[in-house]
Amino acid sequence: MSGTTRKRVLVTGGAGFIGSHLCERLVAAGDDVICLDNYFTGVKDNIAALLPQTNFELLRHDVTFPLYVEVDEIYNLACPASPIHYQYDPVQTTKTSVHGAINMLGLAKRTGAKILQASTSEVYGDPDVHPQAEDYRGNVNAIGPRGCYDEGKRCAETLFFDYYRQHNLNIRVARIFNTYGPRMRADDGRVVSNFIVQALRGEALTIYGDGKQTRSFCFVDDMIDGLVALMAAPDTETGPVNLGNPDEFSIRQLAELVIELAGAKVEIETRPLPEDDPMQRCPDITRARETLDWQPSIKLRDGLADTISYFKSVL
Ligand code: NAD
Ligand code: UDP
Repeated sequence: MSGTTRKRVLVTGGAGFIGSHLCERLVAAGDDVICLDNYFTGVKDNIAALLPQTNFELLRHDVTFPLYVEVDEIYNLACPASPIHYQYDPVQTTKTSVHGAINMLGLAKRTGAKILQASTSEVYGDPDVHPQAEDYRGNVNAIGPRGCYDEGKRCAETLFFDYYRQHNLNIRVARIFNTYGPRMRADDGRVVSNFIVQALRGEALTIYGDGKQTRSFCFVDDMIDGLVALMAAPDTETGPVNLGNPDEFSIRQLAELVIELAGAKVEIETRPLPEDDPMQRCPDITRARETLDWQPSIKLRDGLADTISYFKSVL
């Protein structure tokens, strides 16, 4: 520990949307943070403010290759999360989830580090159980356009639990539901950033399908609280644990709220619904409430207002 009791924490995908907020939180807490990224969707601007800090270090690396560093904790977030990004090079997406998990689990095994996997609500696919609790096994189309992401993340979960049973690793698996906030990319194609950018540019909002499909949106600060709480929880709390906001909205409701909050005078247009787009999604967060004493506190209206201010400053 080179004369210090600081935790050495590796964040893979640390220059991305959620990763950069996590790095910020860990640096502020005094941890020694290594931010790893290959900049596929992440950008240096996201973590530029942290560069002068002596307890922050940046590493250009691809998790599909082995890594040798000495750390105490690993948050494995590396993986594109937006459908247009993970479908751009689907083979690489699966490699990132599967080879990335194997490499980071190998690192955890060698160093004895605690390791947390950023899994996803997509492991439930287009769910026929609502809301989704962790014991629901999902409805994923293995051969559809979302399969590279969904099955990659499912396989990563399998690897985490096999390393736990076979090698006694100290693991945590978080199933993250739709998260939004400042530092989403303007061009990343996810619904919150698309709608806000369209509203601010005076363009029509594009609803895919009839807009009756639902999602539950968690503000990024709440998500970071949940991830940090899971890492700090007793070692018996391996998860999987759902992290997300249980307030459910239709995509049309979201569009109307964004138009109102942005004060925009724009139309709503419809576009074809992408293949395998889940019709409903809402987390059952009973497990997170009971085991982590965690639940989101930021209302969609407040989080959206904050996110709109951010996009106003960068567009
Ligand atoms: P993001 O695309 O902003 O961040 C992902 C980061 O990983 C980027 O910085 C990217 O450059 C990096 N990356 C991608 N492939 C890599 C590789 N092979 N090696 C090294 N770095 C690589 O996405 P995000 O929204 O911040 O998502 C972070 C994690 O959370 C992802 O694992 C994602 O699957 C998971 N997640 C996010 C959401 C959400 O709503 N944002 C929902 C569920 C799960
Ligand atoms: N969506 C939409 N208009 C857009 C972008 C997305 O109606 O401009 C819809 C999309 O079809 C999906 C929902 O919004 O039903 C959430 O999409 P997103 O890509 O944000 O995340 P995911 O589908 O992975 O939950």
